Amino acid sequence: MSYAIPLAAPPTVGIAGSGLRFPVRRIYTIGRNYAAHARETGLGGAGGSKPGVSLKPADSVIPDGSALPYPPGTEQLEPEVEMVAAIGRGGADIPPAAALDHVFGYAVGFDMIRRDVMHACIADQHSWDLCKSFDGASPVSDLALAENIGHPARGAITLAINGAERQRGDLSDLIWPVAEIVARLSALSRLEPGDLIFTGTPKGPGKVERGDRLEGVVEGIGRLTVDIA
Ligand code: MN
Repeated sequence: MSYAIPLAAPPTVGIAGSGLRFPVRRIYTIGRNYAAHARETGLGGAGGSKPGVSLKPADSVIPDGSALPYPPGTEQLEPEVEMVAAIGRGGADIPPAAALDHVFGYAVGFDMIRRDVMHACIADQHSWDLCKSFDGASPVSDLALAENIGHPARGAITLAINGAERQRGDLSDLIWPVAEIVARLSALSRLEPGDLIFTGTPKGPGKVERGDRLEGVVEGIGRLTVDIA
């Protein structure tokens, strides 16, 4: 195959304890999946209704230890610390009872959002894609393999900014746990190996500035550090 323009290298994330890389196909993000955060958004949607789903470009993935350039067009950049599930086996209409068999591993991710852009898009009834789509918008730690750590259903999830705790939750507070997310997503769009699913953030996300250090931890999965440049 010959290409008319240079072929971009596929975006990848590392795999803990392995020299192999995990190629990223798509990034799905689930919104308002912790009740306390859903309430604070003022947008409703906690419990009973459907999970909100948005997508981010695969090439917005950056690794642990990155310097993330402050994106243009915003004065309100906010990280959301999230558990990320990585799909290793594809499928459509996956039943919840079989869903975890499709998960290759888990990571810590920051769903970076231009919050002012998001609010302006909502007010204007425009798509909010650009609030989540910019270079470096999706920092992701190395993956911990499910075959090593299992499928975490509880454990602390935290974000610290410059050493001060900003967000804290527990995986047991997920309104839609990973199996339910995989089942619902796969009913809307076939999942394939390489898909990453950001599973939502606990309450308390807020803005960060140039020079800030972001440290996310999900108990039993790993840690992610990013500096805003
Ligand atoms: Mn999010």
